[in-house]
Amino acid sequence: MTPDTISSVRTRFFDTKIEFLKGVGPQKAALLNQELGIFTFGDLIQHYPFRHEDRTVFHQISQLNEQLPAAQIKGRLREITTVGEGNKKRLVAYFSDGTGLMELVWFQSINWYEKSLRANTEYIVYGKPLSFGGRWSITHPDIDLLTNENQGGGFWQPIYPLTEKLRRKFVDSRAISKMMRSLLEISRSHIRETLPEDLTRKYRLISKADALWHFHLPESQKSLHQAQRRLKFEELFYNQFRLIKNKLLHKTEYPGMVFSLTNLVKIFYDQFLPFQLTNAQIRVLHEIHEDLKTGKQMNRLLQGDVGSGKTIVAFISMLFALDNDAQACLMAPTEILADQHYQGLKKFAELLGVNIGKLTGSTKKKEREVIHKQLLDGSMQIIVGTHALLEDIVQFKNLGLCIIDEQHRFGVAQRARLWAKNSRIYPHMLVMTATPIPRTLAMTLYGDLDISAIDELPAGRKPIKTVHRYDAHRTSVFGFIKEEIAKGRQIYMVYPLIEESEKMDLKDLMDGYESVSRSFPDVPISILHGKMKSQDKDYEMGRFVRHETKILVATTVIEVGVNVPNASVMVIENAERFGLSQLHQLRGRVGRGAEQSYCILMTDYKISKDTKLRIETMCRTNDGFEIAEVDLQLRGPGDISGTQQSGLVDLLVANLAQDGEILKAARLSAEDILGRDPDLLQPAHKPIKLHLDNLKKEETNWSRIS
Ligand code: ADP
Ligand code: MG
Repeated sequence: MTPDTISSVRTRFFDTKIEFLKGVGPQKAALLNQELGIFTFGDLIQHYPFRHEDRTVFHQISQLNEQLPAAQIKGRLREITTVGEGNKKRLVAYFSDGTGLMELVWFQSINWYEKSLRANTEYIVYGKPLSFGGRWSITHPDIDLLTNENQGGGFWQPIYPLTEKLRRKFVDSRAISKMMRSLLEISRSHIRETLPEDLTRKYRLISKADALWHFHLPESQKSLHQAQRRLKFEELFYNQFRLIKNKLLHKTEYPGMVFSLTNLVKIFYDQFLPFQLTNAQIRVLHEIHEDLKTGKQMNRLLQGDVGSGKTIVAFISMLFALDNDAQACLMAPTEILADQHYQGLKKFAELLGVNIGKLTGSTKKKEREVIHKQLLDGSMQIIVGTHALLEDIVQFKNLGLCIIDEQHRFGVAQRARLWAKNSRIYPHMLVMTATPIPRTLAMTLYGDLDISAIDELPAGRKPIKTVHRYDAHRTSVFGFIKEEIAKGRQIYMVYPLIEESEKMDLKDLMDGYESVSRSFPDVPISILHGKMKSQDKDYEMGRFVRHETKILVATTVIEVGVNVPNASVMVIENAERFGLSQLHQLRGRVGRGAEQSYCILMTDYKISKDTKLRIETMCRTNDGFEIAEVDLQLRGPGDISGTQQSGLVDLLVANLAQDGEILKAARLSAEDILGRDPDLLQPAHKPIKLHLDNLKKEETNWSRIS
C-alpha cells in the first residue's frame, strides 16, 4: 500500500459510528450525538477533558488544610440527617476515617442522595474541604462506594464536558473514561502522527498516539504533563501555521504600492515636529516605513496605551502615502473619536498645506458632496471619519493607506471594504488599538498581522499616583479632595454599573451623590448616568468640561474621548466590582494635564484574593501591557478578548494565560517551516499537509452540523 491509501484507511476507522464501540450501542450513541455532538470514533477521541482530578492519594481528615484545592478521603458514613426547612433544607452526612469526623453536605437532589446513601458503609469522597468553627466539611462531594477497584487510589480522573441530561442517564466522566479506554485500545495503530519528526525530537514531544492515551487515561502526573504539552504544542502549532500562512499568502499574492519618496515627511520632521519623538515612536515609524517601501502590502497592528502618541505616528505614516501620490484615510468607531482625530491631525495638516476632511453620519449633504468630489479627483489627500467612510459612494482617486482606530470595534469585514476602495491595488492597512493586549493573545488574535508596540510614554509625563483606601477612611479622602479643589483642580467620582442590578447601582450612585453634596456644600457638582436623557447628559458634561462644576459623580458612562486635562483626581468607588482593564481605562481619564494626578481605589475592608491582586497591580504600575498580562492570568483569555474576536481563540487544550512558552516555540517552528518549504513539498512535511487537509475536512463537517 502507498502511504496515501494507508491514510485513507485510517481516516475510515475514525469515521466509524460511535454506536459500534464496545459498551455504547444505539441508545447511548443517540445521547452522545444529541448532547455532545459525538457521532464517530474520531469525535470521541477528540472529546478532551477540561481538567484532571488528582485521585492518586488519600488524605486524612486530621491533616486537612484550607489550601488544598480538593481532598480525597476513604472512610465510613456514620449518620445521615436532613437539617433546616424550605429552601434552607440540606442533607448532612457524618463521615469518619479514623483520624477525625467531617460533614458532607448536599443542598440539591436531597431526596436522591437520601435514598441512595447508606449509613455504616465505606465510601470514597472527593471535593474541596472547608472548615467551619473547627469542623471540616465538603459540600456536594463526589461520592463512590469503596470497591476493590478504587480502594488503592492512584489515578488521575479526567473531567469531561457533560450535560445535565447525560448525568441523569449516568453518563458521567467515569463512564466516558470507560468508553475512552475501549476506543484507545483498538485505535493505537490508526492514530497518525501529525507533527514532523524533527519537531518532536527537538522539543522532546511524545507521539500523538501516546499523548491521546495519557491525556485520557493518565497514569501519573508526569505522563499527563507530557501528554498535555504535546497536545498543546500541536494545537498552537497549527493555529500559528494557518495564521502565518495566510499572512504570507497576502504578502505574495497582493502587491503593495511602493512608498519610497519622502518629501513632506522630511519637511515635517525638520520644520514642524512639535516635540521630540520617543524612541518607541521612532522604532514603530521605522517598522512601518520598512513595510511601505517593500512593494508588499502592509497589514500591521499598532498597539499603544492611551497617551502614548499614536496620532503623530498615524500622521507621519499618512505623509508617506501623500509623498507618493496616494491618499490616506483614518476610520474611528464613534463621532467623538473621529472628531478628536480630525482636530488633532488638522493642526499638522495645515502646517504642510495638506487638504484634510471629516466625514461622519452627521456631515451635511452639501459638505458631503464636496468631500466625495475632492476624494475622487484627488484634491483631498486625507479623510478622517466613521463608518460613513465605508459607504460605496465614497470613492478615491488613489487610496494608498487606511488607518483604523480601535480595531476591536471593527471586524475583518470592514477591513475588506476599505481594501476594495482601490480597485487597482490594495491599500496598506494600519490598525491601531489603545487596549493593550498581552503578547500571547496578540499572536493568536492578530497572528495574521505584523505587530508594533509603542511601549513608552513621552518624557515628562507625571505618572498617576494610585492608592487603595478603605471606605472607613472616607473622611481623609474627602479632605484630600477638598485640597485639590482649593488648588483649582476637578474630580471624577465613579460608581460601578452592572446591568443586572441597575436599580441598586443607581441607588448607590444617588446615595453617593447625596453624601458628596453634604460633604461639599459649597462645591458645584455634576451627575451623569446612563438613565439620563442625552441632552441632560450633554448639559451636565458640558458644565464639567467648562470647569463650572468641580466634581463629576458618574457611572462608567463618562463619554469615551472625554478630555478634561484639569481633572486631577479619579476616585473609584467599590473598586472591587471593576475588572483590571476597566480600572486602567478609567484611570486614563486623569493624568492628561501638567499637574500631578491621583487615582484612589475605594473598597470595603473585606476583599477577595483576586481583588487584592487587581488593586495591588493598579497601585504598582501604570503600564497597560503589564496590567493586561495580570488580567489575562486572572480572567483567562476568553473574557479578555471578549469582543467580536473571541471566536478566533478556540483552543481546546492550550491556555494562552499559561502556555506562552509553548506558543512561542510553536510559532517559531511554523515560521521556520513556512520559510523553508511554504508549499510543504518536502517528504518530512507530509504529516503537516495531511493534517491540514484533515482539519479543513473536519471544519466543513462541523459547519454542516451546526
Ligand atoms: P494616543 O496614543 O492616546 O492616541 P495621542 O497621540 O493623542 O495619544 O498623544 C497624547 C498627547 O501626547 C498629545 O497631546 C500629543 O501631542 C502628545 N505627544 C505625543 N507624542 C509626544 C512626544 N514624543 N513628546 C511629547 N508629547 C507627545
Ligand atoms: Mg488616540
